[in-house]
Order: sequence, then C-alpha cells, then structure tokens
Amino acid sequence: MKYIKYTLAFSTLARKYHMSLYLKYRPRNFSALVGQGHVVTVLKNALAVHELNHAYLFCGPRGSGKTTTARILTKAINCLSPAGFEPCLQCANCKSVENGTFLDMIEIDAASNRRVEDIRDLRDKVIFAPQLGRYKIYIIDEAHMLTKEAFNAFLKMLEEPPAHTIFILATTEPEKFPPTIISRCQRHNFRRVSPPEIADYLKKIWGLECASHNAGQIDYDALLAIARISDGALRDSLSLLEQLFYIGKDPVTKADLHDLLGILPPDTSDLLFSLVASGDLTGLCHALDHLMDSGASVSFLLHSMVERLKELLLQGQSATLNLRLMECLINALEKLRWHPYPRQVLDLALIKASCLDRQMRPDPVTASCQSHTPEPESVKVFQPQSPAVNAPISEPEGDRFQALLFRIGETHPGLAANLSQAHVSDWDSTELKLVLSTPFEYKYACLPDRKSLIENAISDLFGEQPRLTVELGSGVKSAASEYPPLVKKALELFGGEIVSVINQP
Ligand SMILES: [Zn+2]
Repeated sequence: MKYIKYTLAFSTLARKYHMSLYLKYRPRNFSALVGQGHVVTVLKNALAVHELNHAYLFCGPRGSGKTTTARILTKAINCLSPAGFEPCLQCANCKSVENGTFLDMIEIDAASNRRVEDIRDLRDKVIFAPQLGRYKIYIIDEAHMLTKEAFNAFLKMLEEPPAHTIFILATTEPEKFPPTIISRCQRHNFRRVSPPEIADYLKKIWGLECASHNAGQIDYDALLAIARISDGALRDSLSLLEQLFYIGKDPVTKADLHDLLGILPPDTSDLLFSLVASGDLTGLCHALDHLMDSGASVSFLLHSMVERLKELLLQGQSATLNLRLMECLINALEKLRWHPYPRQVLDLALIKASCLDRQMRPDPVTASCQSHTPEPESVKVFQPQSPAVNAPISEPEGDRFQALLFRIGETHPGLAANLSQAHVSDWDSTELKLVLSTPFEYKYACLPDRKSLIENAISDLFGEQPRLTVELGSGVKSAASEYPPLVKKALELFGGEIVSVINQP
C-alpha cells in the first residue's frame, strides 16, 4: 500500500517538473548558435574541407556559448551521417553526445582538476584510440585554472598530439595562459551577444512558450532591459525571462522586471546621487536602509546606479563627481564577489564617494555641504560602538580623518574599526598624533605593519608624510603594573582589556 502511495507522489512531481529554458533551448547545431557567426564560419569551413586543428582555444565571457560550441563541434566531427558541416542530431553518436554518454568526449573541469597529476593522468589516457567516433575530443573547461606545472605537462601533449585526439580549451581569462600554449591552439574569441540580438532571441522564445505558461505579451523594452542586465550572456537572459512568465502581468513591462529584480527606477538613483553629492550620510544610510528593507538586492542596486550614471555621463552632467562615484561603484561590484557582507560594501562605496568628493572639491558648494557633517552613528561600517574617548575634533580634521578611515577600511577593515575609536589630538603636515583609550587598541595600532599602513594611506590620500605618533590615553588603567605576572603575560600575548576582577576563594 505504501509503495503505491509513493509511486503516485513521484508521478505527480514529474508532471510538475519543467525543464529550464536555457536547457530546453540550448543550441544543438551551428545554425542555432546566437551572436557567434564569426566563430561558426571558421569552424564550418574547416569541417567542409576536413581540415581540423588538434587544439582549439575558445575564449569569451561566461554564458557566451563556449562549451555549447565545443559539444556541437564534437557532434559535427563524430556524426555518422552529417548534413554538410552540421551534425545530423539523429545518429547514435549525436544522441550520446547530447546525453553526455559519448565515450569519446571527455569533459574536464580544470577548476577542480588543475594539478599536474591530473594532466599526467590525462596524458596516460590520450594514447588510446577512440572507441566509437573518428576523434577523441577533450573539452577542458575553465582551462586558465591549471597550475603552472600542469600547463607545462599539457604543453608536452600539444607538442606531440596523438593523431586521433582534439583538445578544446574553454576559458574566460585567456591572459592567464602561457604564450606557448596559445601559439599551439587555433584561437576563437566569443563575444558578448549584443542587446538587440538577445532581445530578438528572447522575443522568439516568449512567443513559443507564453501559451504553455498562460502568459500574455511582453514589451520589447523589457526584453532589451533583460539583455542589458545579463551583460551579453544568453544563458542568464533566459533564466531572467523564465521568471517573468509567472508574475501574472499582461503585458509584462520594463517596470515589472525592475520590481522583480529590485532595480532602482531612475529617480531613486538620482536621489541617492544627490545625497552622496551633498554629503548627507545620515540621509544616505536611511535611504539605503529603506531600499534594503523593501527587498532590493545590493547587486542590483549597484548595477542600476552604474547604468543611471552612464546615462547621466552621456548627457554630460557633472562629470567629475559621476566619474568618481562610478569608480567607487564598480570597485564595489568587484568586491561583492567575495565579500561576506554585501551591505557593508554598498555603504562603504557610497560613503567613500561622498567623502572624497567633498575633500577634493573645496568650492562653495562643498563648503555648504560641510554643515551636514555625518553623525557618528551614520558611519556604521567602522563604528561598532560609540567612541569612548573621542573629544570633539575640528571640522576639517574630522573630515580628513573619516576619509583616511574609509581608505584604510577598503583593505583593512579591522584596523579602520580600531582607529575609529581614536582621538586625533594633533594633525598637521609634520605630525599625526592619535590617542587610543584601551591598551588593546593602543597595541594593535602600534604594530609596525599597522603604522606603515596608516602612513601609506595618508601619503596616498593627501600627499603628506607626517610622523605618526600613537599614545595611550591618560587616565587609562595600566594593565601591566597592577595585575599578577600570569595576567600580565596573557595581556601581552593576546591583548584585551581587564573588565572586572572577581575574588575567588
Ligand atoms: Zn549525427
């Protein structure tokens, strides 16, 4: 009885399962490839005269069809009844390549098989003749991940390739290849597919799929917007399109897409830019809080601000600030790939752009902005707690110190957080004197590499090389003199602070 129930449950799941669009519409032959006509022409002509190279290098951005083309080439080479240069898609070899079961197509992910031992293992196997096809095809994906030693071992194979073997190396970063490898491969550069090409392709797919998804029409503007967001990657654009089938709008518009992805409308981006330009950090943090609470993602926020800035730059509006802001936003997008706290990356980018702009533009507009000096609580990135000993510091000095903290925080957030507790007692072109309140903060800032980091950041930012003096604030309890030797040693080893002493019997 139980067996019957389980069977029914599984069959219900199977009925509900939809194959993803990018899998369903994955190009199966050369004619179906979108936007890579220049690559297809060369491969087609080589196939027509049966002049195949022993190694191909497919370079291009992710999602541009490198691996798909490698599989189509494998089919075209090994097809049992090819129609000209195209694979027939019907024979046993074509079908097994599509299923991933073709014994003479070996796909290797170089990201996880990058060691010299992996390539030596490959070298031992390439000598065997193909079992079913004319050629044995090795597709090495992410080939730039191979180690230097692995590349050297691979070079040996390329210098004396077995006659029945073809290597296809796919990579997003060809500049990481040794020239000796590149010179032995036939190189094909895959390009980002242009937005109109992607939009036309998506329009066709929408037409084929909308009835089965009970969807209505879609605006061409929305399709163009998908194409721009996916940055020339067809696979990403199909994934986005798939989500739009289910939002229940007819027609689906560009605004619906923006809502779905949390992309800012132009006027919201403009509001953020004006807060950055005026140095209103409190307002900026509140606006960001509001946007994040309403479900916007940091990645799309950054992307939409970059897009809006491009529009403003093309219109010739305030190029100085826009360029600086654009640089900060693009750096933030780069950092977003590995940073564990995306929101902090966003905060830091906008705050930095704001502070740098004010610091570098001492004009009347900037001067008026300085009345909106950031409240300490608005600078959340570097201030985990309110400053303990910070005495008020003069306005320009405060701005300069904040700018210094942001610069240090880009690479050493821990040090920036530590320094945010410091009081700037003196700062001119010859000396910067910082006073820290606890022995731990004092010792941390006094480490030799910390001092040089701070001095380098000052030199970068302000072109000055003042002598850095770090002091322990007066009135702070000296840990070294009052506690037993064991405690003193622990303080020396680990830093820290005595909070309270409990007498135990
Ligand atoms: Zn075939």
